[in-house]
Amino acid sequence: MSDPSTVPLAPLAADAPPTCTTADCGAPATFSYVWDWGQSGLACSAHAALLNQTAENLSRKVMVSPLQSAAPAPLLRDERVRLTAEGMVLKEELAEAKGRGLDLYRENVALTRTVSALTVRGRELDAQLTDAAARLQQAQADLAKSEALQGEMADELSRLRLLAKFVPDPAADPAPAPAPATA
Ligand SMILES: [Zn+2]
Repeated sequence: MSDPSTVPLAPLAADAPPTCTTADCGAPATFSYVWDWGQSGLACSAHAALLNQTAENLSRKVMVSPLQSAAPAPLLRDERVRLTAEGMVLKEELAEAKGRGLDLYRENVALTRTVSALTVRGRELDAQLTDAAARLQQAQADLAKSEALQGEMADELSRLRLLAKFVPDPAADPAPAPAPATA
């Protein structure tokens, strides 16, 4: 009797459906009854109906009351266990969904920041590209101008070289005055 393993069985035994106390019946009891002489018991619906007939036959009184909680108790208990389990699952799912929602929110914030940063960077690059294009254009204009100038200088150089052929060299001919006159 002191075996502790019997202790957890006690609530289950209490939750077991009560049965009709009429001899040899054993059907689930749905009513309780009390005779006016004090005897009480439990009855299935069939035997509960017979109780009133017996009372009439005996000219005694019997009080029959439906068992409101005893019979459905195990169902309620099972239902409660089931609902508690479902509630726990739903709570977990809700927490998970909240977690996912929070993750998505943070991801969204991070992506928004990235997009903003990239937009700014894009504008900077656009501005740099525009600036570089303008400088390239300027450099090309400068190059064209310098090529034209170089061409002009080359022309001028050829002209001067040509002229130089007709100019007497003062170093080669220190007294040139009479020589050209006689030639
Ligand atoms: Zn019965």
